[in-house]
Amino acid sequence: MNLSKRIESVPTSTIMELLTLSAKAKKSGKKVYHLNIGQPDIKTPQGFYKAIREFKGEILEYSLSEGLPELIEAIRKYYEDYNIKFDDDEIIITNGGSEALLFTMLTICDDGDNILVPEPFYSNYYNFSKSVGVNINPITTLAENGFHLPNKEEIVSKIDGKTKAILFSNPGNPTGVVYTKEEINMLADIAIEHNLWIIADEVYREFIYEGEYTSLGNIEKVKDRVIIVDSVSKRYSACGARIGCVASKNKDYIKAILKLCQARLSVPTLEQLGAIELYNTDKSYLTDVNEEYRQRRDVLYNELIKVPGVICEKPTGAFYIVAKLPVENADDFTKWLLSDFDVNGETVMPCPAEGFYMTPGLGVDEIRLAYVLNSENLSKAARLLKEGLETYLKLNKK
Ligand SMILES: *Cc1c(COP(=O)(O)O)cnc(C)c1O
Repeated sequence: MNLSKRIESVPTSTIMELLTLSAKAKKSGKKVYHLNIGQPDIKTPQGFYKAIREFKGEILEYSLSEGLPELIEAIRKYYEDYNIKFDDDEIIITNGGSEALLFTMLTICDDGDNILVPEPFYSNYYNFSKSVGVNINPITTLAENGFHLPNKEEIVSKIDGKTKAILFSNPGNPTGVVYTKEEINMLADIAIEHNLWIIADEVYREFIYEGEYTSLGNIEKVKDRVIIVDSVSKRYSACGARIGCVASKNKDYIKAILKLCQARLSVPTLEQLGAIELYNTDKSYLTDVNEEYRQRRDVLYNELIKVPGVICEKPTGAFYIVAKLPVENADDFTKWLLSDFDVNGETVMPCPAEGFYMTPGLGVDEIRLAYVLNSENLSKAARLLKEGLETYLKLNKK
């Protein structure tokens, strides 16, 4: 029996080997600070658990395929606070942003179609697209430019007859970039001129540390072609809840994706009840979290740029930094950190960034750091990284 060509084109996680090394390091008594993961360490709002504890039903029923009406309403109101206007029937609850992405690709793309994505990008975009027979045409962005977009001509040159959509995460994972209003308008214009969908992954909407944020939900001229992908995972530190949504003013899209939602019947009922309370959480939760991450970013960034040869613009969103290191191979450097380096029995684990690129050879000398540790641990981790890098360079390992 053979597996599908489709699934064989999906890459296996490249971080497995590194996780094995980190497990080995820990077994030998080393402490490893993990800057490689994208799971926030902030407490989930208590209302989530309370709603689930107080559930009084006797049967755990399927909920409506489009999601619990009360949750949809809470999300509609949440968008309203950002002056993004959706009707209830323009929002569909999904099993996380992940399902929103996968179902959206299935809904708008045929086998062999392609979508434009600025690279480096969230690596699951690749896994999802491959698993549905869709190709990604990468738009390369650079550490030197803070991962902002290239000019319009360069982006347009990636479009061909099979291009269906532009997909991007804003704020960006892994880069932490927040696109300017001009960039967002440029993407909107390209979508109009080439008749493309825009899949706006805005799961990090509140994680903005400087400047203004432009949501695709606020760009009137593309309202019929925008699909917003959203999630409680990062916003409310509720990755395990598996609650996300799509929102779009395009009725055809909504009607079509609903077919997939009906086939998978339902999103977990209890988690949706919890998620209603997440969206009802006092706004101060989000501003406190924002302030915490801003401080962490500063701690990490300030340590990082002390090392000569590190190239990295200060990111303004999400909770990641991608840095170009003066080493030949960031994967080798990470392995060395885990196997051969420690300061008083402690070391640090970054995530090599090559896996976030599609273009061969790019990102080989880059790492992504997630600032999901408290400031004290983070500053230890950042110092370990700095010392590790200095030692590595002195050993002339490169
Ligand atoms: C985490 C993440 C998602 C999806 O997360 P879910 O837990 O499935 O909601 C989508 N896009 C980006 C950029 C992410 O970082």
